[in-house]
Amino acid sequence: HIVSDEYKLVSKKWKVKPTRIDLGEGIGIEDGDMAIITGPCSIESEEQIAKVIAHMKENQITMMRGGVFKPRSSPYAFRGLGMDGLKLWYQQAKAAGIKIVTEVMQVSQIEEMHDYVDVFQVGARNTQNFNLLDELGKVDKAVMIKRGISGTIEELLQSAEYVFSGGNEKLILCERGIRTYEKASRNTLDLNAVPILKSKSHLPVIVDPSHGIGIREFVPQMALAGVMAGADGIIYESHENPDKAYSDGQQTLNFDQSALLADQIRRTFALR
Ligand code: PEP
Ligand code: MN
Repeated sequence: HIVSDEYKLVSKKWKVKPTRIDLGEGIGIEDGDMAIITGPCSIESEEQIAKVIAHMKENQITMMRGGVFKPRSSPYAFRGLGMDGLKLWYQQAKAAGIKIVTEVMQVSQIEEMHDYVDVFQVGARNTQNFNLLDELGKVDKAVMIKRGISGTIEELLQSAEYVFSGGNEKLILCERGIRTYEKASRNTLDLNAVPILKSKSHLPVIVDPSHGIGIREFVPQMALAGVMAGADGIIYESHENPDKAYSDGQQTLNFDQSALLADQIRRTFALR
């Protein structure tokens, strides 16, 4: 009787101790630590991957984001390099000791992606793809679920419950902004969600300021606000030359901006 019907296993009423996501090689995401995940919106080429990894190594960042299957509003936009891109990425990331966070869009991709992925990302457009969530519940890899475009906090927790109740407890929640009436920013980053999710769930919570505000010059402020709101990590987009990025360049940091932000994230976390 202590559990709600809406979700229970992801609730703090079920498990008090915060869940640590162990990605191996001493890399993980957990309460009381500050994960930094960066990389391009889209994986574009071998050269691009090498440049991002070199930037990450210089700044002691160990988790890399990037899409190879991209959910694009227009079917004519760049939709990703697919499995070929993921395999190129994997070779370099593995050699560099860097973990791969990438979006899986449909059930049929899980098996082919499995051996090349450290964290399966469920994108905002798929947060309520319940068949996908069911299948990810059977996988022995971490899953990061983004909040739905118009999703409530409760719905995000229910989506997490699908995966968790399927048997996969390696789950990360991600606030990436929601669609509101506000048009001055791409989305409305709901930082309220951070302390609320942390109070309701034992799962780690990370913030995505890139998609959250969608405006490059304001990404750092919102990242640091996310840290102070209590996030366990920040995920943001970076690229050697954001204006040339195949997707989301308008919200992507260059490497100098990224290096500065990573340092500021760590300093801000130390103040918490
Ligand atoms: C992304 O991470 O590039 C992405 C497509 O994110 P979202 O699903 O939050 O829009
Ligand atoms: Mn993006």
